[in-house]
Amino acid sequence: MGKLYVVGIGPGGLEYMTLKAKQVIEDVDIVVGYTKYLEMIKPLLKDKEVFATGMRGEEDRCKKALELAKNKTVAVISTGDSGIYGMAGLILQLQENQEVEVIPGVTASSSAASIIGAPLMHDNCNISLSDLLTPYDLIKKRIKLAAEGDFIISLYNPKSNGRPHYLKEAIETIKEFRGENTPIAVVKHALREGQEVNLYTLGNFTDEKVDMMSIVIIGNTKSFYKGDKFITPRGYNV
Ligand code: SAH
Repeated sequence: MGKLYVVGIGPGGLEYMTLKAKQVIEDVDIVVGYTKYLEMIKPLLKDKEVFATGMRGEEDRCKKALELAKNKTVAVISTGDSGIYGMAGLILQLQENQEVEVIPGVTASSSAASIIGAPLMHDNCNISLSDLLTPYDLIKKRIKLAAEGDFIISLYNPKSNGRPHYLKEAIETIKEFRGENTPIAVVKHALREGQEVNLYTLGNFTDEKVDMMSIVIIGNTKSFYKGDKFITPRGYNV
């Protein structure tokens, strides 16, 4: 009897993967995933059977994994958490009668937050700037309402060549609701090889260091820098 595990491998550095994710990857017959992500967990794969795919073609990847899971144990991997812009939703939508289990992972916003301080201490939200699967009008609406609601905002998929101006537009919208000194952190390759951190405020932000390997965290109206730590207070009287 087969089974499909949808595994979040965390940010990339192996020590940030959950013990459960590690155990599943080591135990299954086949690991399915995007080539670059398989590379990140190479030490765990040894001579295991793998099925590598390109970045697009998520649907084919999921169908293939479900097909294989009819009589083998299979892990399909996502970075971070597989339930946050990962493969878990699509797998469950396509699932027929295979057994499926979702294994959570440390998502990019948590990883980046840990490096820069404690920016997500109060109500926060994730918004992806990718319009491949979401109309841009809806993305803009969510940014505006999140800004108005004073949520700390983590922007996933913040910039790509096809939509270079979305991030700037998002920042302009947020400026309508927050002050010049609001912290903004750009964290690239959080908790994996090539990690890079750049700190800004709403007043001096530039997007030149931002790419698709980065996440952008924008503080709420109470967030501040203490030295190089980005903190959002919870409300304690200190
Ligand atoms: N499932 C993943 C998100 C996939 S969407 C998760 O839970 O983290 C892909 C986007 O996630 C990237 O464009 C980037 O914005 C962000 N991302 C993923 N891993 C990251 C890392 N280690 N450092 C910074 N950003 C990361």
